[in-house]
Amino acid sequence: MISFGYRSRLLGALCSLVALVAVPGCGSGPPPFTEPPVRVLATTTMVADLVARVGGERVTVEALMGPGVDPHRYQPAATDLQRLRGAHLVFFNGLHLEGKMADLFAKSGGRMRAVGVAEALDHAKLRAADADGGEHDPHVWFDVKLWAGCVPPVRDALAALDPAGKATYEANAAAYLKELDALDAEVRAEVEKVPTAKRKLVTSHDAFGYFGRAYGFEVKGLQGVSTASETGSRDRDELARYLGSARVPAVFTETSVPDEGLKAVLETCRRDYKHDVKLIGGDDALYSDALGAPGTPTGTYAGMVRHNVKVIVSALRE
Ligand SMILES: [Zn+2]
Repeated sequence: MISFGYRSRLLGALCSLVALVAVPGCGSGPPPFTEPPVRVLATTTMVADLVARVGGERVTVEALMGPGVDPHRYQPAATDLQRLRGAHLVFFNGLHLEGKMADLFAKSGGRMRAVGVAEALDHAKLRAADADGGEHDPHVWFDVKLWAGCVPPVRDALAALDPAGKATYEANAAAYLKELDALDAEVRAEVEKVPTAKRKLVTSHDAFGYFGRAYGFEVKGLQGVSTASETGSRDRDELARYLGSARVPAVFTETSVPDEGLKAVLETCRRDYKHDVKLIGGDDALYSDALGAPGTPTGTYAGMVRHNVKVIVSALRE
């Protein structure tokens, strides 16, 4: 459940933004596009990386939510609205990843061009979310092949706005799809190093469901698909029991989620089930809902996937 305080704060922030959108005289549509660069604003760093790869030199891309920012709990600031409305194109993940931002796009009444990259996927390929996180699990980037399905909507939206760049966008997209194909094969080869019985991935929140489905891991998160839900002592006890009975050797913190909850679970597991579980964190924390800093190895989607897989394989293979 989203706590009432959180929800009302979020709604309050959104209402003030929506009110700003509706102010008469603020202009009637997104800025006209005449020549490159196409100014793109993306919500998450994963989406920004995808657009940068497909857009190449014809676009400039900024991410609204930087490294370490949790999109589920993201509260738009008033300045965000100006940034959104100043962009030629806005790309977001969708499937309720970004809290209620999709509602903001819907309510902006054509005053921005917004494309939800994961919304465009065939919904038959999506996992169901838990009750708190919307209808579908939004963390589609953890199955590399599924994420590749978000390339065409980006390519097509850029080409529609900037037809002179169509051939460039098509070539960039085709090249990136090849890279993603190779990355998927690389992940499959890496996870083979972990025996099937040891493929148990436990993290702070339930972000890795698509990873588990694609690469054969049983996945559990202390929190649900959205971090907006709070965990209780019952959730912590259940996870401790699972870790103790399955003798899981390690659990993983995430860069965009606090780790206190997981620490409490490990305490319970030690006390009640006499089983010590290693907490993988610090430089080895997994990147779940945000990439690393720009210019570092985890600052790109491919770098983030490689980091996560390396950490997971090295902690679970022994
Ligand atoms: Zn998440």
